[in-house]
Amino acid sequence: MTAVAEGVDTASIGLLLQQRHDETAEQVRRLRAQAASMLVAHDAGAGDAADVGTVAAETAEQAMVTMALQEQLARLQAALGRLDSGTLGRCERCAVQIPLTRLQIMPWATHCVPCQSIVDRHR
Ligand SMILES: [Zn+2]
Repeated sequence: MTAVAEGVDTASIGLLLQQRHDETAEQVRRLRAQAASMLVAHDAGAGDAADVGTVAAETAEQAMVTMALQEQLARLQAALGRLDSGTLGRCERCAVQIPLTRLQIMPWATHCVPCQSIVDRHR
C-alpha cells in the first residue's frame, strides 16, 4: 500500500471541491426560491385545471433536479469532510490512491475506477 495522498495535490482538489460545493449550494438555493415563488403563484391563481397541471409537472421536474443537486451537494460535503480528515482521494474499497486526473474531474470520487465499476454493478 502506498503512503497517504503522496504526490497528490490535495490543496488544489480542495479548492475545486469548495468551488463546486458553493456553486451547487447556490443552485439548490435558487431552485428552492424558484419553487417557492411558483407555489405562491399557483395559490394565487384562479385554479384553472390546465394551469394547475402545468405547475404540477414543472414542480415535479424541478423537485427531481433539486433532489439530484442535493445528492451532489451531500457528496461534495462528504468529500470536504474527507479532505479535513486526510482521507480524500483514497479508495474506500481497496484503499488505493485515486489518480489525480480522476479527482480533477470528480473530486468527490470515493472509489478508484475498477472499484467504481464493481460498486456500480452491485447497486
Ligand atoms: Zn479501489
